[in-house]
Amino acid sequence: MRPCHFAVFSLISLAALAELRGETPDSPRSAPAADARLTYSYVHVAGPYIALTFDDGPSVKLTPKLLDLLAAHRIKATFFVIGENVAEHPEITARAAREGHEIANHTWSHSNFAKMSDEPVRRQLRQTDDAIRDATGDRPTLFRPPYGSITTRQKRWIHDDFGYDIVLWDVDPLDWKRPGPTVVANRIVKMTRAGSIVLAHDIHPGTVAAMPSILDQLEAKGFQFVTVSQLIAMAIPPTPPPVKPQSGASTGTAPPRARSTNPSPSPSG
Ligand code: ZN
Repeated sequence: MRPCHFAVFSLISLAALAELRGETPDSPRSAPAADARLTYSYVHVAGPYIALTFDDGPSVKLTPKLLDLLAAHRIKATFFVIGENVAEHPEITARAAREGHEIANHTWSHSNFAKMSDEPVRRQLRQTDDAIRDATGDRPTLFRPPYGSITTRQKRWIHDDFGYDIVLWDVDPLDWKRPGPTVVANRIVKMTRAGSIVLAHDIHPGTVAAMPSILDQLEAKGFQFVTVSQLIAMAIPPTPPPVKPQSGASTGTAPPRARSTNPSPSPSG
């Protein structure tokens, strides 16, 4: 298991930055407004669409099993792969891409970018980008930083240099702690809502074991599964907040959901 220490979390989907709190180096408060358009942890959509994401693979033992299950359900997911794993098993990543799943960059060796200088970061991204292209024929367009650890400045130049959107998550079952398949399933099913980006890891047996039940339950709730890029393409503007009355008692105008997309701080990713 990877030691996943929480370093930083941030999420800025299409939401208003002013609503967000955070004091990390990646603080949305200090982020320029443009940052909102290149980082996604949730997407405001008009239908029951969600994106399942699987990090840290491919795993020679588990990923093919997961691909069989997704194929049986005709579900497309997004795999945030580790470059060195792709180089070791390009055939698994090639199969995932062939079957319609999205393949995305999750660094070469699961590095903590916020603690690194630009050159090693660039090397991690480039090598992984190349490994994915070699395996699938296509370059990825999405990047997820391990542990969600990335600075605002890094997001900016990574987006400019590689064209990547930065993808975080809003549903985290903490499956890397291996709480057992039932707990993983219950957490995901409980937290997932329209527009969710669900984080899971296809390197943990309990996560893959939980998936049949998770898919059944999410399907029963009417969710439809798309890749992260497809979900982003479906984004609609956040609902404007209700107009406050000129006077009188507070009406407790809660911000609309798209403005409160902050997930629980999470050490995952
Ligand atoms: Zn990871």
